[in-house]
Amino acid sequence: ALERYASILDKPATSLDGKTVGLHMNAGLMADLPSLDSSGAEGVGLFRTELQFLVRNKMPTRSELSALYSRVLDAAHGKRVIFRTLDIGSDKVLPYMTPQDEPNPALGWRAIRVGLDKPGVLRMQLQALLRAANGRGLSIMFPFVAQFEEYKAAVRELGKALDRERVLGHPVPLDVQVGAMLETPSLAFAPDKFFAEVGFLSIGGNDLKQFFFAADRENERVRRRYDTLNCSFLSFIERIVDRCREHETPLSFCGEDAGRPVEAACFAAIGLENLSMRPASIGPVKSMIRQLDLGELREVIRASGRRGEQSVRQAVMRHLEDKKI
Ligand code: PEP
Ligand code: MG
Repeated sequence: ALERYASILDKPATSLDGKTVGLHMNAGLMADLPSLDSSGAEGVGLFRTELQFLVRNKMPTRSELSALYSRVLDAAHGKRVIFRTLDIGSDKVLPYMTPQDEPNPALGWRAIRVGLDKPGVLRMQLQALLRAANGRGLSIMFPFVAQFEEYKAAVRELGKALDRERVLGHPVPLDVQVGAMLETPSLAFAPDKFFAEVGFLSIGGNDLKQFFFAADRENERVRRRYDTLNCSFLSFIERIVDRCREHETPLSFCGEDAGRPVEAACFAAIGLENLSMRPASIGPVKSMIRQLDLGELREVIRASGRRGEQSVRQAVMRHLEDKKI
């Protein structure tokens, strides 16, 4: 399949009506990095740092982590890597941490909640990232932020880590871009000030969808009832796009759906300018976007909404058939 997409490897994901979508890849281990060039990704839109914690049997040390992140940045040779701080809890339990007995772990003590309540590991990780950057640029993204205050608290931790590095006389990164995952519906309704302050946002569609529909992403029985191309969900995403546009907040989408060509095309049509996906999806998504007039697709989506359809999928598939895509 990669050969099929080789001819467009160095070409941008530009639609027939001239809209260019940035395609980035999701990663988590060193082994993923070679795909950065072979896939034609612009950068790493989501680096899931918990994977490196999950493959070990004990907590990594700060210097181990810093060496690891430094190797990641070396391997990216100048392409941007967005490091997401530790996202544990729920479906990702570290074997060397006390398991929490929670009735609803997906709604429980996870990700940034753990990082803020027990900041030891978050602080170590931030320090390791700052050290790894060593004069290079650095992008950090906090997972599972549900309210502005949590983002501010996480940024304060980063500020403290930066101060500590300066005091120790270590070189600090050239610049640090700080953002958040938008994966709880509440964050979409955060105050304007949040959108103005946050450096960038990335929609974590896997979690956002499960909370939007109140349907467990791990539970096949309920998960399949709700289409990503459901009109309500798409209009929710569109609202996020609009709020970000209003505040000039860079926005991307990094859930699994970004790697599905039809879904990706619909996201692009409603205004998402950056998508992050598994490397193997970049070719197929790019090929789809290059064959489409996104303005036209947007009209197809709008018309389906006006007809009151539950999902725009049928209308979109019909449109793709008409266009022989
Ligand atoms: C998401 O929720 O969409 C996401 C990208 O994060 P994860 O799948 O790691 O929860
Ligand atoms: Mg998530």
